[in-house]
Amino acid sequence: MYAKVIVDVPARQTNRAFDYIVPESLRDWIAVGSRVGVPFGPRVVQGFVVELQPDTDQNKEKLKPIAHALDLTPPLTPELVKLGRWISRTYLCHEVTALQAMIPGALKAKYERHVRVTEPAEEGAVSFLLPRQQEILQYVKERDSVELESLMEKFGGDGPLIRQLIEEGRLSEVQLIKDRMSTKKALTVFPPDDLERLDGWIRELSARAAKQKEVLEHLRLHPEPVKLTDLLAKLNISASTVKGLADRGWLRLEEVEVMRDPYGSRTFKPTDPLPLTAEQEKVFSRIQGAVVGREKRVFLLHGVTGSGKTEVYLQSIQSCLDMGREAIVLVPEISLTPQMVERFKGRFGERVAVLHSRLSHGERYDEWRKIMRKQVQVVIGARSAIFAPFTSIGLIIIDEEHETTYKQEESPKYHAREVAAARASYHGAAVVLGSATPSLESMYRTTPEAMDDPSEDRAAYELLSMPSRVEGRPLPAVQIVDMREELKQGNRSMFSRGLYKAIEDRLHKKEQVVLLLNRRGYATFVMCRTCGYVAECPHCDISLTYHQSSHTIRCHYCGYAERELSTCPECESSHIRHFGTGTQRVEEELGKLFPGIRVIRMDVDTTTEKGSHEKWLTLFKNRQADVLLGTQMVAKGLDFPHVTLVGALAADSVLNLPDFRAAERTFQLLTQVAGRAGRHELPGEVFVQTYTPEHYSILTAARHDYTAFMRKEMMLRKFHHYPPFHRLILITLTHEQVPLLLRSGEVLANRLREIGNDRNRSGGELEVLGPVASPISRIKDRYRFQCMIKYRGEADIAALVQQAASVLDETVKQQKLTVSIDVDPQLLM
Ligand code: ADP
Ligand code: ZN
Ligand code: ZN
Repeated sequence: MYAKVIVDVPARQTNRAFDYIVPESLRDWIAVGSRVGVPFGPRVVQGFVVELQPDTDQNKEKLKPIAHALDLTPPLTPELVKLGRWISRTYLCHEVTALQAMIPGALKAKYERHVRVTEPAEEGAVSFLLPRQQEILQYVKERDSVELESLMEKFGGDGPLIRQLIEEGRLSEVQLIKDRMSTKKALTVFPPDDLERLDGWIRELSARAAKQKEVLEHLRLHPEPVKLTDLLAKLNISASTVKGLADRGWLRLEEVEVMRDPYGSRTFKPTDPLPLTAEQEKVFSRIQGAVVGREKRVFLLHGVTGSGKTEVYLQSIQSCLDMGREAIVLVPEISLTPQMVERFKGRFGERVAVLHSRLSHGERYDEWRKIMRKQVQVVIGARSAIFAPFTSIGLIIIDEEHETTYKQEESPKYHAREVAAARASYHGAAVVLGSATPSLESMYRTTPEAMDDPSEDRAAYELLSMPSRVEGRPLPAVQIVDMREELKQGNRSMFSRGLYKAIEDRLHKKEQVVLLLNRRGYATFVMCRTCGYVAECPHCDISLTYHQSSHTIRCHYCGYAERELSTCPECESSHIRHFGTGTQRVEEELGKLFPGIRVIRMDVDTTTEKGSHEKWLTLFKNRQADVLLGTQMVAKGLDFPHVTLVGALAADSVLNLPDFRAAERTFQLLTQVAGRAGRHELPGEVFVQTYTPEHYSILTAARHDYTAFMRKEMMLRKFHHYPPFHRLILITLTHEQVPLLLRSGEVLANRLREIGNDRNRSGGELEVLGPVASPISRIKDRYRFQCMIKYRGEADIAALVQQAASVLDETVKQQKLTVSIDVDPQLLM
């Protein structure tokens, strides 16, 4: 038997499968998707088996056998192995990078160098050893093998002696591949097999052993295994009490594997399906039909905020589970949407696994193993949960499908929406993309125009819509406030007069307020008011951010930090202002304007701690605060009945970003945050403060008019050759020296233009822009240049671009140039 193995050496030369012999002894342990240790050059490295075959076309003499099998059950299914290949071709990454992205971090290999004692060839050779060396050999021998590093530590200062032992071949080096994370074990107390005997033993114990008696009595009443720590806490006893009983054989203490459950300490109120509204019913029955009929179909569900999309998801999943199939639910960033977890756990309880970035490595690993073992049928999680190793998927839901977090920014630069479609097509599953503000890309795919578009090699979407809120609740009234006008009237505060009055009114009525301040919108930097000096990172082309709590100014790209400044380094003026984070300033101002106001601030500074989102949101839900103030994280998914006022303090902050999607992002953000108001009985009101009140994205958002926005934006995109009409590939080059970067950029652009001309002659449309400096022109002392490719026509461009990029191979190797290619980029920085 032969195996094709993708090795864990991410480089172009090794980006193919290598053949290995499957030794007889490992045959039962190796399948497609298994992780194995294979000899590769002088080392043993980790690899993934991607194919098994009875024969090989390689020279069999030269093939080496697989050294180890690393798993009892392969962590990847054959489907995921195939998907890995698809991702590597579509998004131009090494296949091993794609495969690695699909397994939990806990399983990423850690290589350890161990030593082992080599049996001496002749007897007596040992006698030439120094006593200290004999001691070392003895130490290793007793332990079978010892990690080199810990041996060095143990015999500190004897490094040369150890090296000599290795050189003389008395110690041999072995490389072990270890998982980063092991399963968690807990000492567990088991009652004796023969419960009848407990009574006798209890009598046998003397009066002084009251505690031990108590333990046995407890076991008699509750004869099920119990975690030692739980038992100790319950009976208020010490471990030695239990150990004493174990020593007498009256109970058993054993290590038992436990699952780390991030939600273990919480209970979720079970919920029953709600009777659906007519709009919900229509959408639901269409989705249900596809799930039951195993149609591989992608639905775009356009439902306004508060239209009850979640209930539709829940009932659709129920019908998927009723079919005996599994479901994946993606949310943009789960730590921002604890309410979603609550709703899913409430409906499906133990059948739900949760995967998000705030979990520890161990917790993620355990949630993942619940999936592997088929203990759960529903996964809810952030982007990478799309790789859940289910084998019978019936439905994939992507909530807030327009969010940029669904595109991974580092390699593999996949988009979860596309991966979802690929997986669904394999399983014959349905996909539901839900949003109140669908991305233009998704909307385009529901149009007849897309059907005739050759660059849309991907399936067309079916549009479903829910245009009204549940129970006929109105969408909130939105007022646009022109902040220039406020200034003219002498109002220098960050609150317009209208918003000020509205907040005052809500405080009076004991209703709640959500305030959004996009972080980028307000000054977080350090500026000299005398000369205009702005503190910048010495390594990156970006201003430093002030952190009030630690009195430092820091770079958000490279982590560079220095103490806050008391005088200007340029002009020595003391009028240097440290602007606190925007939200901090708003909080201060609220306190001044409305004494006694209770504000919860949610931003990166207040939510670093695990579980902090939940904590703040619970406080707010219990009405222990009047105002929830925060960055984008307060805009999404929250559903609180007493919120009747929403204020967007600086609506145009996103609009000014150098990105062709700036208008779309502004529309989305405003629509989302406005959607937080008046979701229940009480009607809502929204204030949008802006310096560009005439911009179409703001005007249409204020009217809740997605269609008008979409039409206008589509026109502009078409005119400027942007997605969804053209597709993009962004190539970013980085190097420490600008001249080399410029030269390389030109070489690449010329090569790309040649390709473009060839294609355009044969009826394609391909433009090459650049090379130009990237919007962020330097990070960590490396300058950045980019080329952008816009194209239409059939979609084999990615491969051509990769080929073109190979003209830079030599420079990459010899001068340490980096080239990164982003297919369908979401961020152009
Ligand atoms: P969306 O995600 O579309 O913004 P939600 O799913 O959060 O909306 O629903 C808004 C509110 O309406 C929630 O409080 C939800 O419990 C409620 N809701 C949803 N469907 C129904 C229904 N059929 N009957 C009554 N209330 C519903
Ligand atoms: Zn100055
Ligand atoms: Zn920096």
